[in-house]
Order: sequence, then structure tokens, then C-alpha cells
Amino acid sequence: MPIRTVVWNEFLHEHENEAVRGIYPDGIHRTIAGALNAGEGIEATTATLEEPEHGLAQARLDETDVLVWWGHKAHGRVSDEVVERVAQRVHEGMGLLVLHSGHFSKIFKRLMGTPCSLRWREAGERERLWVINPSHPIAHGIDRAIELPNSEMYGEPFLVPEPLETVFVSWFEGGEVFRSGLTYRRGAGNVFYFEPGHETYPIYHDRQIQTVLRNAVRWAYNPARPWKDVANAPNVPVEAAREPIERKGLSLHQAGEAGYR
Ligand code: ZN
Repeated sequence: MPIRTVVWNEFLHEHENEAVRGIYPDGIHRTIAGALNAGEGIEATTATLEEPEHGLAQARLDETDVLVWWGHKAHGRVSDEVVERVAQRVHEGMGLLVLHSGHFSKIFKRLMGTPCSLRWREAGERERLWVINPSHPIAHGIDRAIELPNSEMYGEPFLVPEPLETVFVSWFEGGEVFRSGLTYRRGAGNVFYFEPGHETYPIYHDRQIQTVLRNAVRWAYNPARPWKDVANAPNVPVEAAREPIERKGLSLHQAGEAGYR
């Protein structure tokens, strides 16, 4: 069974900006989906903001193993109901890749629980994404660094929780650094944040960036999905294994002697 992946994009810049349309004539989502489908064992489809329920109806999410998220200018237009639905699916075991300006999306903030803010500068600077965790599966096939001649600078401090793992750290021509590839686990779901991807640069056409995205989908996939329907899981009381000490009428010392802990 291939990893069923949905690439979500707000798909607004491509309509409004000729430069972006020139780079991604079919939309960022289709370029990313094409790159994922070029990998063995991945079956990627797309969804966008303007579709009913943003293309993320419950039935579709239930059939999704990994969701990829690209959003920038319309985070506020994503319905809270859909955000909560995606969050619950992550808790149940769906993987989530959050790309570039998705750092400020409702879903990323919901799962991180922190402001997720950062510093940025759009000046077409050189970026070097250093692999700082070479044995990590997401970095498989990438040599010491990925070099992007033009990128938007994202700089620290990046107000996210301490990650599970840091796979990439970026250096920018202007001198800043940024933790550009971070992993998290939320419930049973694997989450990867990946920084490059500003819409006016052809970053998702870069072969090494595409390799990272395929690696990340495979890493995020959790075939076990052990936490099904976790949103409705009750908070269950369990009976005491032994009769409580007080009912026995024992002092703490006596209880200790009798093997109570
Ligand atoms: Zn950007």
C-alpha cells in the first residue's frame, strides 16, 4: 500500500502574482505532489483552501496517512473546525509536514502551543541548509548541505517548543541562522517543520529539496496508527490493586512493614 499523501496549499499567490505563476503554473501543491509521486511508495493528491471544507473533509482525512501544509497569507481563513479535525488526525497517527510560512498556520500553532514567530527578510539571499543529523532518515541522500542561491531569510529566535530532533540548521548570507528542519511527535503523529519554500523562488523544483520532502513523508508515515478515535477516548478510572492503607487501619510504618508502598 502506498503512503496516501495529501498536499494542501492555500493557492492564492499563484492566482495573484505573475512571478509566482511563472514558477508554479499549476500551483505549489501540484509541483510538490509531482515530486512526491516520483518517489516509490508514495501516492500524493492535492487539496486547496477554496474547495469545500478546504478539501479536507473527515472522510478524506481518515484515508490520509500524511498531510503536507503550505499556507501564507490566508491562515485566518482556514476554519477552526477543519484545524481541529486535522489536529485530532495527527493525534491518531497521521503524519504532518509543515512547510515554510506554514510556521504561522493555525494547525502548526495548535500543535506546538507556542507563538511560532520568527524573524524574516525577503532579499533573495543565499541559504545553506546544513545537515546536522546525517544519520536521520529525513537527511538520507543529502550531502553535507543544500545550497539555495536565493531564499527568504528566516531567523532565530523561532518560538517553537524544543524539538524532538533537529535535522537541518540554516545559514543565511546576511549572517542569521535558523533551525530549518525540526521533528516533533504529537500523540501518535509525526510532525516535521521544513523552512525553505518562499513562493517567488523555484525552491520546490530543487532536486535535493524534493528528496527531503519524499524522505519526510516516509519518515512521518505511522503504519500502526494505535490511537484511533483518540478525541473520544474516555478518561477511565481504574480500581486500586490493593485495599487502601487507611481502610486497613495501619500506620505508615506498619504499612511499610507489611509491604505496602
Ligand atoms: Zn515566504
